[in-house]
Amino acid sequence: MLRDLFINGTILISFIFINSQIFKKNSLNLSVSYKDKFLYGLAQGILGIILMLFTLHITPKTIIDLRHIPILLAALYGGGFASIIAGFTIAIFRISFFGISTPAIIASINMLVVAISCAIISKLNVNEFKKWTYMNLISLMFITITFLIIIKNSVSLINTLIYFWLGSLIIGILAYYIANYMNTSIKLLNRLEHDSTIDFLTGLNNVRQFDNAINESFINVKNKNEHLSILIIDIDFFKKVNDTYGHLAGDAVLQQLGVVLSTSSRSFDIVSRIGGEEFSVILPDCPAKQAMEVAERLRLAVEIYEFILPDETKINICISIGAATYPDNVNNLENLVHEADTALYAAKNSGRNRVCHPE
Ligand code: GH3
Ligand code: MG
Ligand code: MG
Repeated sequence: MLRDLFINGTILISFIFINSQIFKKNSLNLSVSYKDKFLYGLAQGILGIILMLFTLHITPKTIIDLRHIPILLAALYGGGFASIIAGFTIAIFRISFFGISTPAIIASINMLVVAISCAIISKLNVNEFKKWTYMNLISLMFITITFLIIIKNSVSLINTLIYFWLGSLIIGILAYYIANYMNTSIKLLNRLEHDSTIDFLTGLNNVRQFDNAINESFINVKNKNEHLSILIIDIDFFKKVNDTYGHLAGDAVLQQLGVVLSTSSRSFDIVSRIGGEEFSVILPDCPAKQAMEVAERLRLAVEIYEFILPDETKINICISIGAATYPDNVNNLENLVHEADTALYAAKNSGRNRVCHPE
């Protein structure tokens, strides 16, 4: 029996790892959508089924395994809905695969009761480890009641209960520890990925991500023989905004400018904040004429936009833009950003609030 519980435990732990990789974008977060909760519950249900396939027969019709633990995982990380889905999946399989019998029906109902209990416990306002412990204990109690009903031989009953309680408690704690470890690592990894690519103030790409994007665009241009345009944007007299209204007001302007630039660009253009008050837009597969149109549209959108400061004051700002396009007005791809920068400089020197491009 110990051998079978050990096999169940190892399957469980391997699948906790696999599941955490499948659901890593959502990092098993309670705030995910119902579709994701459904899929997470289903994945745990399937894990329960696999555990049942490696089950231990106490009598020809009575089996024990750790199938309740996936329900606990579903409840803890997916919430009540995922718990019920996992419980249903396991219950339906228990009846349909092992055949309809009294033990099968009792075991299936038992799994639904466990799923509902775990769903309720998942809503309690206590820490995760306490939730897990309550869920595990209540599941063990319900499963014990099932054994009391089904197993008639008292020696076999006592043996089963001892191994089952010990196995469930030990593997249960191990499963919790590993799931919790995976969840925390994935959350940190997601945060690291986010923080290293996204500008915290505007939510746009940061300069590092801009570098990646421009390098990828260069590769595309070489492979597909496309045009590539880039706009470098700088706010006009932004220092005056900071000096007049304060740095926080300046930050509010930068934030809103990020939104204006994103909403006025095409969906596949790549908008980044590449410096304090400098932005860029990469325009893939875009010839010079069209790039000038986009740049002019952005310039105008900013000019007419009323920026709202934290004290509700409304102000207008304007931007200067340098636009460069390979191969239309820049021959060497490597010089594209530099040429756009030079054009921006020309825009500043010729009066600001305008778009310039290399001759
Ligand atoms: P110009 O028209 O020549 O661009 O004039 P400018 O005043 O905008 O000059 P410049 O481009 O050199 O502006 C840099 C100013 O941007 C300095 C600094 O006060 C402001 N700035 C840079 N980063 C931030 C930021 O993160 N938040 C705020 N509020 N201001 C910033
Ligand atoms: Mg500047
Ligand atoms: Mg400026």
